[in-house]
Amino acid sequence: MEVDPHDDVSGSGPTAAAPPPLRHAWDALGTGAALLLDGAELVRIGLPMRAPVGTAAGTHRSRPLLLVHLRCRIAATGVVVDGWGECAALGDTTYDAEDVDDAWDTLGGILVPALGGAARSLGGLLHSLGAVQPLAALAPGRPLAFAALEAAVADAHLRASGGSFADLLGVPGAEVAPGAVVGTAPSPEDLVAAVASRAAEGYVRVKVKIGPGADVDMVGALADWAAAAEESCTGNVPRLQVDGNGAYGPGDVDHLARLDPFRLLCIEQPFARDDLASHRRLAERIDTPVCLDESLDGPVAVVDAVASGACSVVCVKPARLGGIGNALDVVAWCQAAGVPWWVGGMFESGIGRRVTTVLGALPGSTLPGDLAPPAAYLTTDLVPPAAQRTDPASATMRVAVWDGPGLAPVPDAAVLEALGARHAVVPLG
Ligand code: MG
Repeated sequence: MEVDPHDDVSGSGPTAAAPPPLRHAWDALGTGAALLLDGAELVRIGLPMRAPVGTAAGTHRSRPLLLVHLRCRIAATGVVVDGWGECAALGDTTYDAEDVDDAWDTLGGILVPALGGAARSLGGLLHSLGAVQPLAALAPGRPLAFAALEAAVADAHLRASGGSFADLLGVPGAEVAPGAVVGTAPSPEDLVAAVASRAAEGYVRVKVKIGPGADVDMVGALADWAAAAEESCTGNVPRLQVDGNGAYGPGDVDHLARLDPFRLLCIEQPFARDDLASHRRLAERIDTPVCLDESLDGPVAVVDAVASGACSVVCVKPARLGGIGNALDVVAWCQAAGVPWWVGGMFESGIGRRVTTVLGALPGSTLPGDLAPPAAYLTTDLVPPAAQRTDPASATMRVAVWDGPGLAPVPDAAVLEALGARHAVVPLG
């Protein structure tokens, strides 16, 4: 496939003449149904993880979480509606330039006051989504913070209209077959046991974290296990994928090429986020597709990475791409260019995961996403679990997309307080 790096990612810039239909619907959300913005707060909590998740870069034991909460009224009726947006920033900057403290400062010091100021210029009215997008320029290099603001505005508009995100994207009633993520393990036997457990739970794909010293032998043992399970036809055998989280250096190309015989769906982000050259060299060396994740921090980065030959599978993470609108642009571009894509996860609560699950239900998402129910990795969630079932024919899991009002259910206030939530009112500019 040839991709011209100068091709426009439709809808991503001011020159986009004809945004794709989903982006158009997104930008129009809120048009003609004005909301009055009455107040805003940031809410911060820590969600305990069910078990530590090891990656090449460290171990996650708790999921710090930042929520944007907007208080609004429907201008025509005075009915109160809230808008909630989950910020994907983690506790450190291992994967992104923003951590949760940085996102707190960006949202509280720049983006939320800017939203308030923009609303005040319109008599207190909240903008449509298309009018909110330019605020991203006020916080360059902070896609995670902007994505949380965008989500909160979208949630309020959807809630006011009584519609769901699934309705907007045309996927109400859909289901997804999720993939699971398994952290690094102390031995091949431990890794095989962990993956076999996920297989028994019905995940159609298992992604394994790898790193120097825990890669070829580990994945080889897994491939042997999968081949034996397929041979004996014993239940669900998930497809396998690996994720290096940028832990390898340019000198590791030949070593990583030893993963090629293992029939992996893809090798995800083995090299640093700015090292496209090593990704391209690996892609030239092996048949297994190379997927990028951390490198893809916006629509332009996606186009450039694919055009350079460094990336043949795109991990779509709405937060890292700068919001749902940008993610819809990337999906449309991938569809047009014939580039496979899938939806990645960032250990979201049930709020953020409702959003990514709807995106994963879009037609064309042919690879399974990191869309496991949050109960797989969190001991406590902010919202009730999504409906799920086991497909009897394949013994694999299906998770229903959220098609209630808003982007997701409203977080449970009692759970927030039980977790010691810290609330901070943000002046509206
Ligand atoms: Mg990844």
